[in-house]
Amino acid sequence: MTHSLPELPYSPDALAPAISAETIEFHYGKHFQTYIDNLNKMIEDSPYEDMGIEEIVMKAGGAIFNNAAQAWNHDFYFQSLTPVPVEMPEVLAGKIEKAFGSAAGFKTEFIKAAATLFGSGWAWLCEDKDGALSIVQTQNADNPMTQGLKPLLTIDVWEHAYYIDYRNRRAAYLEAVWNLIDWNKVAGRL
Ligand code: MN
Repeated sequence: MTHSLPELPYSPDALAPAISAETIEFHYGKHFQTYIDNLNKMIEDSPYEDMGIEEIVMKAGGAIFNNAAQAWNHDFYFQSLTPVPVEMPEVLAGKIEKAFGSAAGFKTEFIKAAATLFGSGWAWLCEDKDGALSIVQTQNADNPMTQGLKPLLTIDVWEHAYYIDYRNRRAAYLEAVWNLIDWNKVAGRL
């Protein structure tokens, strides 16, 4: 199976100025594409050759895991954004209130987790088997699916996600990207 770069659900300049067309050109067009290309090369004639990306993430280790997980994570991240402001659906708002006290409390905790993640990685909102929500940090390519959690939302905090637009100001990137989250997509993953 040859994997290909999934299409974006918006035009490359639609998220500007929070995420510029130049960042999309590099982050989506080059970094994400490279993970897909590397994955395709690595799985050739391997036990992973006919698996979907999610199955590879759950079963592989090493470089194949890293490239498959980065492919999965980037698709999930880009699919979670929208240029059109979306209000949080009630079913999600209720669960967030239960877990974090309020929507504002959730935002504070999520952004803190994303801002304090040391080095490269991802901040996630996840749901466990009992339906409880939690915020998770992962390093590098790691994905909470391998810990038995269901990802609902992620924000990429690798430097390549924000350096063109924000240089070292990760917190400014997080504040801006927060307004791009498609809460309908997040709720749809519950
Ligand atoms: Mn990235």
